[in-house]
Amino acid sequence: KRHEIPYAKHGIDPDLVDKRALDVVRTLQDAGHEAYIVGGAVRDLLLGLRPKDFDVATDATPEQVKALFRRAFIIGRRFRIVHVVYGRGRQDKGLSEVIEVSTFRAYLDNAAAEQVKGNERTSKSELAGMKHAVDSSGRVLRDNVWGPQDEDATRRDFTINAMYYDPETEIVVDYHGGFKDAKKRVLRMIGDPAARYREDPVRIIRAVRFAAKLSGLGFKLEAGTGRPLKDMRSLLADVPQSRLFDEMLKLLQTGHALATVAQLEKLGLARGIYPLLDLVVERAQQPFVHAALEDTDRRVGEGKPVAPSFLLASVLWADVHDGWSARLKRQAPQAALQDAIDEVFDARIGDVSGRGKLGADMREIWLMQPRFDKRVGSSPYGLVEQPRFRAGFDFMRLRAEVGEVPVELADWWEAFSTASDAERDDLIAQAR
Ligand code: ATP
Ligand code: MG
Repeated sequence: KRHEIPYAKHGIDPDLVDKRALDVVRTLQDAGHEAYIVGGAVRDLLLGLRPKDFDVATDATPEQVKALFRRAFIIGRRFRIVHVVYGRGRQDKGLSEVIEVSTFRAYLDNAAAEQVKGNERTSKSELAGMKHAVDSSGRVLRDNVWGPQDEDATRRDFTINAMYYDPETEIVVDYHGGFKDAKKRVLRMIGDPAARYREDPVRIIRAVRFAAKLSGLGFKLEAGTGRPLKDMRSLLADVPQSRLFDEMLKLLQTGHALATVAQLEKLGLARGIYPLLDLVVERAQQPFVHAALEDTDRRVGEGKPVAPSFLLASVLWADVHDGWSARLKRQAPQAALQDAIDEVFDARIGDVSGRGKLGADMREIWLMQPRFDKRVGSSPYGLVEQPRFRAGFDFMRLRAEVGEVPVELADWWEAFSTASDAERDDLIAQAR
């Protein structure tokens, strides 16, 4: 069952391995623990891609891991892992400076998990004799039941996501044929796909995400893995909205937004995952939304940051724009825009309105749009000084690209934003 694949067969380029991940593995191994790079990073390394982040799996408990590093934090209540922090701990420059370390976990099928859940209501003393991890209040944590490596592999989702790489011996450990599947370009769920989707319906969305991300490399969903997706999507109704929202952003913001839309349509999932996502698919061929998705993919590809507010503002712009135009007959422009925005928030964003910053950023992008028409007096000076000017400008430039505003307007603002004060006065004079 356990396969060890040597360098001669997998050929992973050691230069693609992050030196902080290497440090974490070494430190754990030197302390006598097992430690491996795991999951998506191994998949990407095997495919010759540079992983965007590295996770480490070990047989050490979170407390043991934490004790070995100067800056390490145990995080997560449901799923306790350790963040080992390097550098300033800032996640800039695209590559994370945090290495996530998780302890090998047992695989509990649904029956075993139900038993654990039932035990949540039993007393601490009853639990004492069990191998289950328990939090400080005595609650059993389903996902914190430690176990052997082979079970840790089995609880993962796809075969290509369930391999372990020891950078010291350069051996890949594989329990589920992930290596073969990677070679054959197959995305295959471990175990019985339908049961695994039932266990955690978010895997339905993950199937779409990896199918889209890896489609460019020729990956196909294995038939049995792809077939249940459409019928099982109703299970997503039980998943908290916030988790669905986060998964939707991963679909749209990891550089494969257009490929994702194509996969959703191909798999019969164009509707029914999440209301805002349905809207993205529905509008993906509209010139403005298409341009926004394309722009997002390009930026991620170039390693530039992307903001969810920009993409969502683009997808909902048609509604804001229509509501605004309709109100202009009886209201002043800025008030009409405000009211149109409120209406769109009520109608479309209800569930994520708790995300204050995201909503505020979207509003700001929209509210800036009429201000780009005012190229007189001091108003352009005020606008370029806005902290969110760049986002508002990029949005307007996209509108220019699809013919909603003159290209000349976008060029003018581009020039204005980079000009000296003297040049700016000239630009304002010319605009009149
Ligand atoms: P990416 O490159 O997009 O980060 P990833 O494979 O690293 O892809 P993560 O969401 O970071 O994906 O998860 C890390 C690993 O944890 C996965 O490779 C997989 O082994 C496991 N995993 C994550 N989510 C699930 C899940 N819902 N069910 C089973 N295993 C999961
Ligand atoms: Mg990852």
